Amino acid sequence: MGDLSCKLLIIGAGPGGYVCAIRAGQLGVDTIIVDKDNVGGTCLNVGCIPSKALIHAAGNFHRIVEAAEGRSPLGLSAANPRIDLKSTIAWKDGIVSRLTSGVGSLLKKNGVKLVHGHARVLDGKTIEVDRNGEKQRISAETIVIATGSVPVELPFLPFGGRVLSSTEALSLDAVPDNLVVVGGGYIGLEIGTAFRKLGASVTVVEAASRVLPQYDAELTKPLTARLKSLGINVLTEVQARGLTQDGRSLLAVSKSGEEHVLTADSVLVTVGRRPAATGWGLESLKLTTSGHFVEIDDKCRTSMRGIYAIGDITGEPMLAHRAMAQGEMVAEIVAGKKHAWDKVAIPAICFTDPEIVSVGLSAEQAKAADIAVTTGTFPFRGNGRAMTLERDDGFVRIVARADNHVVLGIQAVGEGVAELATAFGLAVEMGARLEDVAATIHAHPSLGETFQEAALAGLGHAIHI
Ligand code: FAD
Ligand code: NAD
Repeated sequence: MGDLSCKLLIIGAGPGGYVCAIRAGQLGVDTIIVDKDNVGGTCLNVGCIPSKALIHAAGNFHRIVEAAEGRSPLGLSAANPRIDLKSTIAWKDGIVSRLTSGVGSLLKKNGVKLVHGHARVLDGKTIEVDRNGEKQRISAETIVIATGSVPVELPFLPFGGRVLSSTEALSLDAVPDNLVVVGGGYIGLEIGTAFRKLGASVTVVEAASRVLPQYDAELTKPLTARLKSLGINVLTEVQARGLTQDGRSLLAVSKSGEEHVLTADSVLVTVGRRPAATGWGLESLKLTTSGHFVEIDDKCRTSMRGIYAIGDITGEPMLAHRAMAQGEMVAEIVAGKKHAWDKVAIPAICFTDPEIVSVGLSAEQAKAADIAVTTGTFPFRGNGRAMTLERDDGFVRIVARADNHVVLGIQAVGEGVAELATAFGLAVEMGARLEDVAATIHAHPSLGETFQEAALAGLGHAIHI
């Protein structure tokens, strides 16, 4: 393999890297992208997409079990429901493969060269790629670091055997009888709920005083109630300590000192993710960091000229759509366009049951920033569509400036609210006012009507409550 050179070299082909590469290719920038694994990164291969596939399959299975147990309010019945998890995982793998081969085709179509192999930084302009022992140097005018993140490993619960990270949990070939989830955040609750619906007995061990501590308590209340009704055992203010001596249970201790011994065929550890910033020579560049993350400015520039960083390696929120937006922006900057990060908000969706969405500021965040706000809330129990979906536990809340009614943030919890995130994001990004949302005709019957009603509530005259 001969050495290569290019204008733009991207290390990591996850959502950040591959979007950056495609956009750079569209703009005619001579681009090489390197990845040690399949293109698509964490998101397409072992993250967003596989987890949502499993959640969908588990939701369907759960409905059939309800019907078989005579618990379907719709009058449905079923007999002897079974799941062949191997087939489910094969279906999930099929989706992953369609998406990742699609990314490969898009890179090719846009003239981007894809190099497979493990990148190692030699200096600020050069890397060495190792592919099964064969080495190749690539030099570039500009480098984009897009190496993403990896699961945090607890020293007393190292991954391996029955201790799983999300990656292994998304490729099991049988449903464990007893699953203990350490960490009641995004991943633990999404995957833990899916396994409960697939028939596992699930306990969630969360160190904080409630699950999803990053969201406000009102927003997580319907979720907490649903976890209970699904039979998920949630232990809060409890920390994992390690496996018991026979390796068959997890030992955990509550804040008050009480010990818990939790039977566990599998222990899923989801206590956060850390940047993939070590072990491949990046440290040698001595880039300025913010905690463990690479520090960037509003153009995603690092402290070294000619080196940009995007995606999870640059910190929170570690979300695929943030990585993609950064990737697109950096490609345009490298192509000579004037661009800087000017987004008002980055939506976040937690694909729990019910789903939770947050875009922009909460009332507390606005108050902390000294902005006087008015809020409008509309409950799903006043929405016909929510009732026909059998789920009226949830609400939409709009936070707007008190003086001019510009919408600052929207939070929602409920069945199907993930798909409302687009409307919420558009309203915040475009600087809509409560009056704009309220005056927009929302199709009936739809969950989206709760958004319009929340705006009307903010103006003091919701119709259906
Ligand atoms: P990554 O996707 O992590 O990609 C980095 C790439 O760099 C990888 O392909 C890796 O192989 C490569 N790489 C690393 N080091 C090297 C090296 N030295 N040489 C060569 N290649 C290298 N986000 C959402 O927005 N929505 C969701 O629903 C969601 N669900 C998730 C579910 C799970 C279970 C997990 C784990 C994550 C989820 N995320 C979700 C987060 C999302 O996956 C990440 O935010 C996103 O993938 C970050 O993109 P990235 O491009 O920064 O890095
Ligand atoms: P997280 O930060 O969402 O949750 C980790 C949880 O573990 C926290 O609630 C924390 O209090 C708890 N915890 C930490 N140490 C503990 C201990 N020793 N014992 C018990 N509990 C402990 O992290 P995650 O769920 O691993 O997800 C990582 C990142 O992946 C998220 O921050 C998010 O950016 C991304 N992600 C996003 C989505 C989505 O957008 N739907 C889905 C999955 C993951």
